[in-house]
Amino acid sequence: MIKAYAAMSPGAKLEPFEFEPGALGKDEVELNVESCGICHSDLSMLNNDWGITQYPFVGGHEVIGTVAAIGDNVTSVEIGQRVGLGWHSAYCNNCKTCQSGDQNLCTGAQPTIAGRHGGFAEQVRAQAIAVVALPKGINPDSAGPLFCGGITVFNPLVQFDVKSTDKVAVIGIGGLGHIALQFLNAWGCEVTAFTSSEHKKAEALEMGAHKVLNSRSSNELETANNYFDFIISTVNGKLDWNAYLSTLAPKGRLHFVGATLEPLDIGVFSLIGGQRSVSGSPVGSPATIQQMLEFAALHEIEPVTEFFSFDQINEAIERLREGKAHYRVVLKKADN
Ligand code: NAP
Ligand code: ZN
Repeated sequence: MIKAYAAMSPGAKLEPFEFEPGALGKDEVELNVESCGICHSDLSMLNNDWGITQYPFVGGHEVIGTVAAIGDNVTSVEIGQRVGLGWHSAYCNNCKTCQSGDQNLCTGAQPTIAGRHGGFAEQVRAQAIAVVALPKGINPDSAGPLFCGGITVFNPLVQFDVKSTDKVAVIGIGGLGHIALQFLNAWGCEVTAFTSSEHKKAEALEMGAHKVLNSRSSNELETANNYFDFIISTVNGKLDWNAYLSTLAPKGRLHFVGATLEPLDIGVFSLIGGQRSVSGSPVGSPATIQQMLEFAALHEIEPVTEFFSFDQINEAIERLREGKAHYRVVLKKADN
């Protein structure tokens, strides 16, 4: 039996829950969970905001753990090795997309917390290909958030060839956004943070922003007219997207990783006139996760975390719900 914390209905408090995981698949690994970050997607899934949650719901997809068991066919990791697991726990591994190395875009990819039980548990299972070993120089205690939050903001830099000479903005300085500032600064870019929280300004500058603007102020957005080559939005709410399009330089891109639920109301002429683009992307492939970890180790990039024990899980989720996380809440085993 695996001991976990589960919600029994939308938005419910998490409670202790045990389940029988069955036989370990030949290509699977079982991890002993050491820590697990709490991503805003865990909260959206807990509330069934996206209409795909199954209950009992066991969240948690920013897992660091040690390999406790391996299936017969697994050769990529060893028992006892410390690895991370993010949003995806399995891929079809057969389609053209998987074979091109874009497993995160596979239509058969299985989210760790939808149709499976995630890392708010003592153990979690995944295909071996979905876990990535931690390189030297990565602090395991704070590394969990790299596996969803981190890769989600790192992947677009790779996918869209963001250059060190680019002017890049990050909207929303939360779990994802605060890591994006660090990556972009190390990538060599001129970095602007857009925040709606006055109190985050000083820390945004420390984390790598060269400038900070108010994400809800049309006056401040106007000062950046025609300016950015790339904007990453990590917010889950609605902002004045047309005003943001006006801050893009010709050929600039407004890229969504934040799951804003309201449809985008975008005027087409600023896209046509300046040959601008709007796009989105999910997390990243296992190979890109590995690249990200090496980049983070080299540049000493680390998520800023607050730790709670697993039995404080409801308080920890409440902190994220209230927007008070500084900057990512991580559940950590007491003896770890
Ligand atoms: P988070 O820690 O709550 O951060 C979100 C930030 O957005 C907040 O800190 C806040 O930043 C800003 N924000 C929130 N509501 C806002 C509003 N109404 N107006 C203006 N700003 C607002 O969440 P997270 O864990 O970083 O996740 C962010 C989003 O990304 C979520 O929707 C999550 O589901 C999604 N996500 C997507 C992927 C993917 O693969 N694409 C992966 C992980 C997460 P300021 O205080 O600076 O304004
Ligand atoms: Zn996530």
